[in-house]
Amino acid sequence: MRRVAVNGAGGRMGATVVAAIDAAPHFSLVGAVDPAHAGRRLGEFVPGVDEGTAGVTIVASLDELASAAPEALVDFTRPGPALTAFRWCLAHEVHIVSGTTGIGRAEIEELQGEFSRDGASHGVIAANFAISAVLLVRLAEIAAAHFDGVEIIELHHDNKRDAPSGTALETARRIAAARAAAGREPRADPTTEEVVAGARGGVGPGEIHLHSVRLPGLVAHEEVIFGAAGQSLTLRQDSYDRSSFMPGVLAALARIEELPGLTIGLDAVLGL
Ligand code: NAD
Repeated sequence: MRRVAVNGAGGRMGATVVAAIDAAPHFSLVGAVDPAHAGRRLGEFVPGVDEGTAGVTIVASLDELASAAPEALVDFTRPGPALTAFRWCLAHEVHIVSGTTGIGRAEIEELQGEFSRDGASHGVIAANFAISAVLLVRLAEIAAAHFDGVEIIELHHDNKRDAPSGTALETARRIAAARAAAGREPRADPTTEEVVAGARGGVGPGEIHLHSVRLPGLVAHEEVIFGAAGQSLTLRQDSYDRSSFMPGVLAALARIEELPGLTIGLDAVLGL
């Protein structure tokens, strides 16, 4: 039974992770950190968990986790607290799985240097734990070399502030790299007259057009449409709620022992 603690346990993702760990057969929820909810019990946030999990008291800081002796920490917080969590895990020889977004590339590279391949603490950081999204990017990468053109549509709920989504940008980067490796030039846009400004979307890596839809009722969805003479291929993934991220989080926890250093993204976790 692997002992797991959750950082940001009172948040939307943190509470979902608590429920997922509680329900998973090989993990035990032993600690929870969240300064905004310190002193409260997990049972107040997460209905239906077993007695042991419900009785865990949320603490204000990672240092208060010592007696819980976690083997792994799952972090869904904010960039500052997440960086603190990575370094705390390194210092305390605890594995870490983090889904916090917005950590800069330079900071992630710095962390990669700190998580040496023979260190006792292993880390996984992924901007998207939905297995359908990870597979979409990988499948798009495979298709990239075989089509003349490609465009990306990402669709999200109407509270999302940034556009396009980080996952859509990463998809464009990976497709662009695969196309460049196959010697495919970016395709010239035939549009000479954009009647409504922005109708052709934004132009991302590899001159790939990206279109962002924001509507109530949506959660997180992405389509990649490839075109060639007489045919097209559409890849689509849909995340309907936060439970979509949990199999990816549990897979990272299950495999982290075998993944030394800091692993970026879920491809290695899923063996892609
Ligand atoms: P949220 O605001 O609901 O939760 C964040 C929690 O972190 C809050 O409860 C807050 O009190 C807590 N927190 C703040 N400072 C802390 C600290 N120093 N120590 C411990 N906890 C602290 O946000 P959310 O919707 O749960 O999202 C959290 C993060 O997860 C965001 O970065 C979001 O973009 C990311 N996210 C990632 C994925 C993925 O698949 N990788 C999916 C969804 C969300």
